[in-house]
Amino acid sequence: MIISLIVPCYNEEESLPFLYKALCEVRSSEEGKGREFEFIFVNDGSCDNTLKVIKDFAASDSSVRYVSLSRNFGKESAMYAGLRKARGGYVAILDADMQDPPSLIPQMIKDLDSGNWDIVAARRVTRAGEPRIRSFFARTFYKLINRMCDVEIADGARDFRLMRREVVDAILLLSERQRFSKGIFSWVGFRTKWLEHENTERVAGETKWSFWKLFRYAVDGIVSFTIAPLRLATYAGFASAFAAFIYLIYYFIRAVILRIYDTVPGYPSLLCFMLFIGGLILMALGLLGEYIGRTYIETKGRPIYISAEESPSKPDEDLCSRDNLTSQDT
Ligand code: UDP
Ligand code: MG
Repeated sequence: MIISLIVPCYNEEESLPFLYKALCEVRSSEEGKGREFEFIFVNDGSCDNTLKVIKDFAASDSSVRYVSLSRNFGKESAMYAGLRKARGGYVAILDADMQDPPSLIPQMIKDLDSGNWDIVAARRVTRAGEPRIRSFFARTFYKLINRMCDVEIADGARDFRLMRREVVDAILLLSERQRFSKGIFSWVGFRTKWLEHENTERVAGETKWSFWKLFRYAVDGIVSFTIAPLRLATYAGFASAFAAFIYLIYYFIRAVILRIYDTVPGYPSLLCFMLFIGGLILMALGLLGEYIGRTYIETKGRPIYISAEESPSKPDEDLCSRDNLTSQDT
């Protein structure tokens, strides 16, 4: 059986040699057991020598295959491109920077072999080495999304996981453009085993995630998996309308029945209310916009990625199961 290891790479020329070496070690430890490996590198529009490094691997190693995207489409699209390319019965996704320890792969293979699990996924139990503020926001995000969504998204869950073919085919069926893989992995279901590991720092290069990129990713995650925020806007609208109504009655009673008149006109309270309501309306509009914008983008039906170049395909590639899927989104 083939085991596919997918690596999305964006400006990773420095880390790739380390990773490749580690993957080769995994391969030599497993190959005696009648397994074949393929390493799929997805070059996500890197501006450095990543593609050249990958091609060098491919020139000397027939199990290296690659897809090179026409520009930087983002990790989500790169992973999707890799999943489409993969032919294996078991498929894993891992980062290029060694933050997903390749040494966990043999254990993952063993777990899938046992037949008790369909997915073996890695999960960081510590966030050591990460800025505090980032950890705080990450944790808040997971709490929020799990409260609002039906799908459970584990805190610290990584994209690093080994999956059976059935799971990969299911993921490929979800061909939405705005992908939030952590949610998609959980949405498709199947029996998942979690392997816990410590956080490790990347071997070389630097992270591509800025705070705002992460923030947008968080909003994407919430908006693509639940419409609860829309409901929240409705509730907030109701609540403030109700409060305003009570306030009105209070003033009515004061003025008409108790005949208490304000000596100072109520500018401050008026202003507060206007601002409050105005804020709520804008918030609700913004939320609506998020969803409408998403609908707009999905209806355009653009492809998730565009491949500029791929490793030459082998004759047996037509037989692989992924070609049984509709090819509308390649
Ligand atoms: N990556 C990618 N496209 C991007 C950003 C990142 O393919 O636009 C890849 C990157 O090369 C790495 C993985 O996604 O293999 C994780 O990226 P990074 O290490 O920057 O994220 P972090 O580990 O800091 O969350
Ligand atoms: Mg990383």
